[in-house]
Amino acid sequence: MHIPRKRFGQHFLCDQSVIHRIVHAIAPSRGEHLIEIGPGQGAMTLPLMKQMHEMEVIELDRDLIDELSSRVQPFGRLQVHNQDVLTFDFTAARSDDRLLRVVGNLPYNISTPLIFHLLDHAAVIKDMVFMLQKEVADRLAAAPGSHAYGRLSVMVQYHCEATHLFDVAPSAFYPPPKVQSSIIRLRPYAKRPCVANDEKHFETLVKAAFATRRKTLRNNLKTMVPDELWTVLNIDPGLRAEVLPVSDFVRLSNALTEKE
Ligand code: SAM
Repeated sequence: MHIPRKRFGQHFLCDQSVIHRIVHAIAPSRGEHLIEIGPGQGAMTLPLMKQMHEMEVIELDRDLIDELSSRVQPFGRLQVHNQDVLTFDFTAARSDDRLLRVVGNLPYNISTPLIFHLLDHAAVIKDMVFMLQKEVADRLAAAPGSHAYGRLSVMVQYHCEATHLFDVAPSAFYPPPKVQSSIIRLRPYAKRPCVANDEKHFETLVKAAFATRRKTLRNNLKTMVPDELWTVLNIDPGLRAEVLPVSDFVRLSNALTEKE
């Protein structure tokens, strides 16, 4: 029997009705290029394989792989990548004109760096359906002005449409996590509502704007934004970054990069 490993964030789904709801939200269809992150003992992999007959998984814990492979073997071909998902090249994994669908009950200890890693590959991803700790899921989908809105919200919402689907109680897992969980869908935009001319600059600007949350935009961005630009763009520099919509961060970044 496998003893769940804390360092791999292992909380295995065991509530069949929750698993069914997640698979229903994913709505897998044969012929799609689907990749699951952290299949574990196959709680989601099995029902997905029954519909897909072919998919890929990325699992770091080598001790889980043999059992997983033999459990799904009757249903088709499972390609297993035994590696850290943070080093997985999703762009290289796209093998033809199909965009990737990426799903998973994510290891919560790496969820934020993992979301940033996936954003780097957003151009090859059609959609993502993830289980995350509720607090992180709330940040991904947060609206400007809300307490949860921050750098992660701006960066995710720049690249994707983020939709909170439903919450999952700790009792759905073994062992139960200490926190509530949520299922979220991220759909990278085929055509972005607003486009930063220089995405690296945009990233740096957003990071700086949220560097000290209680400071105003003027103070956090003192070295990046000349005073007169706030007036030109009609943005109040006395506000905090947490009330600024993504489109204003993009306008600010574009005005600064044009100037340079
Ligand atoms: N999908 C399974 C389920 O729902 O029962 C397991 C989910 S468990 C929350 C997270 C899974 O991710 C575990 O199987 C764990 O071994 C795996 N994992 C943890 N860190 C990982 C990493 N850096 N790269 C790939 N897989 C990882």
